[in-house]
Amino acid sequence: MFIAIRHISKVFYLTLGGAKMAYYINEECINCGACEPECPASCITAGDDIYIVDEEICTDCGNCAEVCPVDAALER
Ligand code: SF4
Ligand code: SF4
Repeated sequence: MFIAIRHISKVFYLTLGGAKMAYYINEECINCGACEPECPASCITAGDDIYIVDEEICTDCGNCAEVCPVDAALER
C-alpha cells in the first residue's frame, strides 16, 4: 500500500513538471555491497569510502533502500 501511494505521488509529481528524483547514499553506509546487485539501473558503485549512486541514471525505484541494513540509501 505504501509503495502504491509513493508511486502515485511520484507520477503526479513528474506530470506536474517536477524535477527528477533520485536516491543517494549517505555516510552511514557500511560498504556491505547489498544494494549494488539490486539496482536495475546499475548506477551504484563502490566509492573510496562508501558506495555511490549516479543520480543521473537512478530511476528512483527504491530497491537500494529496501535492502540496506543501515538505512543509508535515501531519496532526495
Ligand atoms: S533507487 Fe533504484 S535505480 Fe536508484 S540507486 Fe537505488 S536501486 Fe538504483
Ligand atoms: S546496502 Fe547500504 S550499507 Fe550496504 S553498500 Fe549499499 S548503501 Fe552501503
